[in-house]
Amino acid sequence: MPGAGESCVRICLLASGSRGNALYIESPESRILIDAGLSARELTRRLEGIGVRSEDLDALLVTHEHTDHCQGIGPMSRRYDIPVYLHHETHRALPKLGRIGEINEFASGDVFDFKDLRITTFPITHDAVAPVGYTVETTAGKIGVATDLGIATRLVCERLKECRVLVLESNHDEDMLRDGPYPWKLKQRIRSNHGHLSNLASAELLRGLVSDKLEAVFLAHLSEENNCPDLALQAARCVLDSQNVCTPQLVVGRQDQPTVCFDTIIS
Ligand SMILES: [Zn+2]
Ligand SMILES: [Zn+2]
Repeated sequence: MPGAGESCVRICLLASGSRGNALYIESPESRILIDAGLSARELTRRLEGIGVRSEDLDALLVTHEHTDHCQGIGPMSRRYDIPVYLHHETHRALPKLGRIGEINEFASGDVFDFKDLRITTFPITHDAVAPVGYTVETTAGKIGVATDLGIATRLVCERLKECRVLVLESNHDEDMLRDGPYPWKLKQRIRSNHGHLSNLASAELLRGLVSDKLEAVFLAHLSEENNCPDLALQAARCVLDSQNVCTPQLVVGRQDQPTVCFDTIIS
């Protein structure tokens, strides 16, 4: 816990994977979720597990319209009166979102201030109408989030530079996907430029993002069929070991439970 005169920024991946995603970020003045892809009940349970009440959330941000990112957006927003931020096309692609008290649309590339946060959106490639990644700048530095992307474009690399914490997709091991049980068409979709990032592609992205500032990397959206935590970790570690910097903490996102909370202290 922070001492007197200190505050902290806290990050926890509440759920990660094709059955639901939610990332919790807390700063001295704000508590937000990026994606809410579980039921409101389960999200509330997981938030309680890290000492947070759903009614204290300030905003829900959406990356794209797939159910594993949006399932709980409407119910959480209505039940706890939480504003929603999403791309205008993503909004159109969610006809069943239902009534939302306060909805804020943005375009890819928009930057907006929210309480003590500066939020930057950037386009990513995925089979959704207008998928985005985010950076969230806090008094403790920048947090970068890129999950559900087929390739890491130059823009993605640029936006994620100089982060203190990264949340990067590490979806599949290429051999496991090739040899696994998925139908060929689905394998092609996952591998495509609009699919999901493999462990190797994620590690390559990470290679360009390592800096002295980087303290933690959350590996996200691991496939339960085509990946395992050890392989994802191994790929990331391999890159980090080859760099001459302090090694950041690696945390693997889980489908069934929240990760540890990562706290950065602001003195
Ligand atoms: Zn997803
Ligand atoms: Zn998706």
